[in-house]
Amino acid sequence: MLKGGEFLVKNTEPESIFIPEEWTEEQLMIRDMVKDFCDQEILQPMRESGKELNASTDKDKIVELLHKSAELGLCGLSIPEEYGGMDLDFNTGLLFGEAISTGFSFATTIGAHTSIGSLPIVYYGTEDQKAKYLPKIATAEYKASYALTEPGAGSDANSGKTKAIPSEDGTHYILNGQKMWITNGGFADIFIVFAKIEDDKNLSAFIVEKNFGGITLGEEERKLGIKGSSTVQVFFTDCKVPSENLLAKRGDGFKIALNILNSGRIKLSSGSIGGGKFALTQAIIYANERKQFKKSISEFGAIKHKIGEMATQLFAAESAIYRTGKYIDEKESIAAQAGATKSESKVIGLREYAVECAILKVYCSEVLDYCVDETLQIFGGMGYSAEAGIEMGYRDARITRIYEGTNEINRMLSFGELMKRAFQEKEIDLISAGKKIPTSFVSQLFSSKYHPGEERKIIDNMKRLFIAVSGIAGKKLGMKMIDEQEIVMSLADVLAEVYVTESLFLRVEKLRKQSHESSKMIIVEQILQLHIYESLGRIRIALGHAVDSLPDGSKQKLQRKMIRRFARRYTVNPKELRRNIANYFIAESGYTF
Ligand SMILES: Cc1cc2nc3c(=O)[nH]c(=O)nc-3n(C[C@H](O)[C@H](O)[C@H](O)COP(=O)(O)OP(=O)(O)OC[C@H]3O[C@@H](n4cnc5c(N)ncnc54)[C@H](O)[C@@H]3O)c2cc1C
Repeated sequence: MLKGGEFLVKNTEPESIFIPEEWTEEQLMIRDMVKDFCDQEILQPMRESGKELNASTDKDKIVELLHKSAELGLCGLSIPEEYGGMDLDFNTGLLFGEAISTGFSFATTIGAHTSIGSLPIVYYGTEDQKAKYLPKIATAEYKASYALTEPGAGSDANSGKTKAIPSEDGTHYILNGQKMWITNGGFADIFIVFAKIEDDKNLSAFIVEKNFGGITLGEEERKLGIKGSSTVQVFFTDCKVPSENLLAKRGDGFKIALNILNSGRIKLSSGSIGGGKFALTQAIIYANERKQFKKSISEFGAIKHKIGEMATQLFAAESAIYRTGKYIDEKESIAAQAGATKSESKVIGLREYAVECAILKVYCSEVLDYCVDETLQIFGGMGYSAEAGIEMGYRDARITRIYEGTNEINRMLSFGELMKRAFQEKEIDLISAGKKIPTSFVSQLFSSKYHPGEERKIIDNMKRLFIAVSGIAGKKLGMKMIDEQEIVMSLADVLAEVYVTESLFLRVEKLRKQSHESSKMIIVEQILQLHIYESLGRIRIALGHAVDSLPDGSKQKLQRKMIRRFARRYTVNPKELRRNIANYFIAESGYTF
């Protein structure tokens, strides 16, 4: 089985990956049920009233929506059956995230409840803690939230000042401090609070009930988007937390926070793709209806460009999400077979793919932002007006680049985790992969262009380029690399391109071996070609930046030549590809893959 980050040095057989065309009837039923729920309970009322949900005025409505989703079993998707949940596998949980994204800000509400607000208990809780809290979270009797961020501790989450002091008789902790930006905080019954016990270096985590007392809430934040999601400051003043509400061990909080964020990051990715697909469908419907110069605007090349581009990016990103989700599920079951408990196995699965989760968070949130931006553009003035609802999607999407770790932090994390796995944990053999490069490099140096059919070779060369340039950067900068964030961010972008492009390629390879409708296959092949063409361009630019930003050296000329050669042109016609892809979805009146 492919280890986390190992995609860079090992090739994968298409048969071994999961592709979205393999969802079972049952999984698709869950997806459709969630979409119907969003349509009937959220979109329809919004369309009728012309107003978006607002946490300042619609708190009761939001809580009611949580209760209604609980009745459908949606609040217990990741909770073990013995505690009243459905205990779905991780990949189905991701599909749920994709579907619920059509509920706009409610996706954040239920996401915080079912993911960051309750998974700390599922993964790290004692049997007593699970029995006490999980059944009530599954029914939404208890609404859950996650309180890590503080006014002075955002990206640097371990620097929080919230303190927990053990009582003299050891029965409880006294919690004091201030948390900020807490999703669901306005109505939460449970807060997973991260605080330092006495003067500990690391955080600990606690399950804190609202009715423990000593908790006051700030006003609802006035935000750019996701206005229907409650976000408040939470103040703890001598809040008495029973000792048995410590999660895991003293000092384990930061570890818990990071693993929970791994899960949050990949879930945010599938949500982003769901939002992007929804936006694209709106864009296509509008472009077909709107006439200018006596034509539907969908007939114009400039509009087809946007539609073809959005569809390609969404299809590619989606391939990487569910490939990873399946890996997480597989790693979990291997860990369970090896004797780990159910909860431990889940954590082992998530921790293994930290590199991929960080890659996906960045990539997919930026695909979403691209899609909502271009959708708004396709709507023209109507896109800018509150009437069409497109501007709400535009505003709501923007948060995905900020929470669950900003995209800057996640870029640094994907690259940093990969280096850690390679050089500290010795899990990935980057050195041997690097040593193999010169021979293949020289033998391919003189071919001037890539042609369709050479996709495997192109992806192998993308990997080699990443390994070669990051090796050169590492040698030149040594430990100073950590301060050269601009270079690390460029390398992280290349790493992401490699993973997403390979995932797309493997999906298409697998589809080729299955019997799919030929019109779909023609488009899928074209999506692959367009994506590779564009990915090579992005890699050329990112690696060019990285190499040009290194201190001057004698070999720089050779390095630039290597980038030009390995990330060379791919002989396809991008305009024709985009047009064909766009025409397919325009005829379908939406994104139908
Ligand atoms: C609507 C909303 C909901 C949220 N929900 C929750 C929640 O439920 N629970 C919770 O605990 N938190 C929540 N957050 C907090 C969120 O996770 C943080 O906002 C986020 O982690 C960034 O922290 P910050 O806002 O303090 O920004 P900062 O950390 O101050 O960052 C500001 C800028 O500096 C950059 N930066 C920071 N450090 C570095 C570095 N080392 N290198 C390079 N660049 C850096 C960042 O990328 C960013 O661009 C929420 C935030 C919002 C806005």
